[in-house]
Amino acid sequence: MQTNINWLKDIDAYDLHIVDITERKLAEQKVKNLAFYVQETQLPNLYKLNKDVDNHINSHHKFTFGLFEILDFNHLVSTHGLEATNELVCEMTKIISQNLPDTVNLYQINESQFALLCPDSTSSASLQLLTEKIKVSVDKPIVTCAGDLFIELSFGYCFYPDHGQSRNQLFKNVHSALAIAAQNEYDHFSLFNLEFSEKIQASATLIDNLRNALQLNELYLVFQPQLSLAEQKITGIETLVRWKHQNIIISPADFIPLAEQSGLIIPIGKWILHQACIFAKKLVDEGYKEIVVAVNVSPRQFSHPDFSQNVNDILAETQLPAKNLELEITEGVFVHNESRTLCVMKELKAIGIHLSIDDFGTGYSSLSYLKRFPVDKLKIDQSFILDCHTNEEDKALVKTIVSLGKNLGLSLIAEGVELREHVDYLKDIECDEIQGYWFSRPLEADALVELLKKS
Ligand code: C2E
Ligand code: CA
Ligand code: CA
Repeated sequence: MQTNINWLKDIDAYDLHIVDITERKLAEQKVKNLAFYVQETQLPNLYKLNKDVDNHINSHHKFTFGLFEILDFNHLVSTHGLEATNELVCEMTKIISQNLPDTVNLYQINESQFALLCPDSTSSASLQLLTEKIKVSVDKPIVTCAGDLFIELSFGYCFYPDHGQSRNQLFKNVHSALAIAAQNEYDHFSLFNLEFSEKIQASATLIDNLRNALQLNELYLVFQPQLSLAEQKITGIETLVRWKHQNIIISPADFIPLAEQSGLIIPIGKWILHQACIFAKKLVDEGYKEIVVAVNVSPRQFSHPDFSQNVNDILAETQLPAKNLELEITEGVFVHNESRTLCVMKELKAIGIHLSIDDFGTGYSSLSYLKRFPVDKLKIDQSFILDCHTNEEDKALVKTIVSLGKNLGLSLIAEGVELREHVDYLKDIECDEIQGYWFSRPLEADALVELLKKS
């Protein structure tokens, strides 16, 4: 109730106003609730988190800032629908709230990410304990309308003031910690440290520079010959990309993963394929009609919807016969979207392109794909070749891969062949081809043409 009394002098009387403000108060509370809380879970939201972080910073009190997220959240939504996922999140936050120490505050900052504010900066060990407690509390099936669902959480933490003096810096660093935690397959836990923040920064800078590498003509190709052991002649050539940036040559092992991660592999991969086909066509025109030029294709490039069309277009444009092109894919390609992979491989085979499995033996995938997918060649990973002349286990492994491949009608090439002893052993077990420093390092185009002329 709100009352108001006025004395009306002229008529010597009092005017009494009594207003029922229950509804207004309720509306005010509702507005406050909407502003500060997530409606579904009734957890304080990002706006409230920002205010609380600012208050802690202004009072110069040490605190720990944590962020955790539900892994594969999009997959959960696409498999079980929004309703069940909402139920899952509500139930999960209820369980976690009940299991948190009173001093720790829980916030929800978006549909799959949550924050923790803990007064005082605790040690890494006690954060691990807190994390474990939360994980254990939700390590059971959660009942939803779509049945029992499971979740996996990933946690990143940072300390104020050690890891940031401002809210912005703390958010940046706790997100870095979370990104690292998500990549950590075993415990999905990470406490920010400067070293990995520098690594993330360095990768970001490299990606920025890579974005311009094509326009600036900083990329070029080198070629490594592949030798047939029976014929003693060059039968194939692998294309390997190089990046010369500010007079330093950056290894593809360092920048291809970043190109994959950032999506830049699509334009870069297209450019590599185009250049490789131009080179292969030149060789064919010079009389090397049987030579096969191999190009590495990364998983993201292979799974792009336009991939086989692009390959077709490039072959048409460069006039390279498809039989002179080989695409090297890794076992990882088979793991994601089997049916689409099979379809793309069949399309590529239908036009006459060769397909090989790179780094064979390192992918932990099922061998049954060799039977189902139209593969021509296995490239035995260099890690098995390195000691195959001395180590009995490697010897046995290489021999087994060769006979497995032969039994399936595939051709075999050993990579990383550096020593005469490797060559002798590989000849003994009738491996078809070799590639490695023993015969030749990767060469620039002109040097490779010279080598072809000599052999
Ligand atoms: P990869 O496809 O397994 O390529 C073989 C790597 O082994 C190459 O390293 C090659 O230079 C190196 N190598 C060749 N012979 C020997 C040897 O006898 N001993 C040793 N220790 N190494 C040898 P590189 O060129 O640094 O490439 C590294 C990786 O980067 C490649 O591994 C491939 O995964 C990726 N990559 C290279 N070029 C491309 C490309 O054009 N496209 C894509 N998507 N990935 C590429
Ligand atoms: Ca390769
Ligand atoms: Ca390889």
